[in-house]
Amino acid sequence: MENRTYTADAEPGDSVTVAGWVHEVRDLGGIAFLILRDTTGRIQVKFEKEEMDDDLVETGLEVARESVISVTGQVEEEPRAPTGVEVTPESVEVVSEADTELPLDPSGKVDAELSTRLDNRTLDLRREEGQAIFEIRAEVLRGVREAFREADATEINTPKIVATGTEGGTELFPITYFGREAFMNQSPQLFKQLIAGSNLERVFEIGPIFRAEEHNTPRHLNEATSIDFEGAFCDHHDAMDVCESVVVSAYEAVAENCETQLEALDLAEEFEPPETPFPRLSYEEAIERINATGELDEQLVWGDDLPTEGEKALGDDVGGHYFITDWPAEIKPFYIMDHDDDAELSTGFDMMHPRMELVSGGQREHRREQLIEGFEQQGLDPDAFEYYTKMFQYGIPPHAGWGLGAERLLMTMLDLGNIREAVLFPRDRQRLSP
Ligand code: ATP
Ligand code: MG
Repeated sequence: MENRTYTADAEPGDSVTVAGWVHEVRDLGGIAFLILRDTTGRIQVKFEKEEMDDDLVETGLEVARESVISVTGQVEEEPRAPTGVEVTPESVEVVSEADTELPLDPSGKVDAELSTRLDNRTLDLRREEGQAIFEIRAEVLRGVREAFREADATEINTPKIVATGTEGGTELFPITYFGREAFMNQSPQLFKQLIAGSNLERVFEIGPIFRAEEHNTPRHLNEATSIDFEGAFCDHHDAMDVCESVVVSAYEAVAENCETQLEALDLAEEFEPPETPFPRLSYEEAIERINATGELDEQLVWGDDLPTEGEKALGDDVGGHYFITDWPAEIKPFYIMDHDDDAELSTGFDMMHPRMELVSGGQREHRREQLIEGFEQQGLDPDAFEYYTKMFQYGIPPHAGWGLGAERLLMTMLDLGNIREAVLFPRDRQRLSP
């Protein structure tokens, strides 16, 4: 829009046109205030009824809340106004009128159910807190990209419609692809490995993953955003180093550039990038420490996956981000490499926030024979993956990588109660639209 000034940029003495939503109208009798909101904040518009044109006053004061208006006028200093300035209008134009009944209150005075908010995201994200989460999300992704570029990784995009799954058959969404069976991809795992074996060597991807998980939990989505890394000539220690720097860079970007947003979320005071280095506990140490907390009814034994309560108990004990390394080979996927000197032990790792798992990764099996054996052990038909295993005949270096859930990163960073808060239009068991 030509000549539009953001409310935050309106300075005393300026003659401006501001445009945005009618946040509130307060009629005090002889004088009335309209609060106009845009992406940068709010500004007070003053109507002195006696001194102003009746039509102007009527347009300004009778327009329904959340209508879009454009106001041209003079900016003056006014210490009693919320932002210290106010606009005396010369003209008011209603650009797009809103219904008087709204499904939720964007001023945030009345709480709405999460499902109502998600059904009406446009209105919901007129609230400061919602706006703040998605501005922070963008900054997180910027910080992540920056760290990857510093680690010499190239951003790639791999297909989301695929012929085969990688993480076992049950979590796949089948689709029909020109009469053939196909699936929505659960992870870019095999593709990123194939490209790490090209001359690109170090690659990263930020893209959707699809998981047909049956359960409805506050930390699972059926469509999530995965931040993936894969690096040739990397072992699992190198991969953990990159993981740590990516997560810290995301926090630093937010700490540096999102002060207003953190304030909107009431986090400005306590927000801090995590301390480094993240402790690296072996799986064995992890189960010992969980058992020692006495929080579980039954003691964990070697080979058990960590139950959610176990992860929580350990998280409280460690008190910050940490890695769990050296998992039993049998509970990690086939593409993870085992330790040279102990085939029971894998190079797989998870990176944990005290509340939940954020990352899974490891060094990959790049020896073709062992890889094919792995497929068979996992009950997968190696022939279906020929496009992948074939490349291991043509020189694939040792490589390692990981996947980090972007929404879980946001959720833990901003202490959100539900992962759905960090997605514009979540996909879960019930929710397919909007
Ligand atoms: P969990 O055991 O917590 O369900 P997972 O081990 O099945 O996770 P991975 O396959 O290891 O998940 O995926 C790597 C990362 O991707 C996870 O650590 C998590 O951050 C994210 N992720 C995986 N599945 C989901 C999901 N359904 N919803 C949101 N994030 C997910
Ligand atoms: Mg995992």
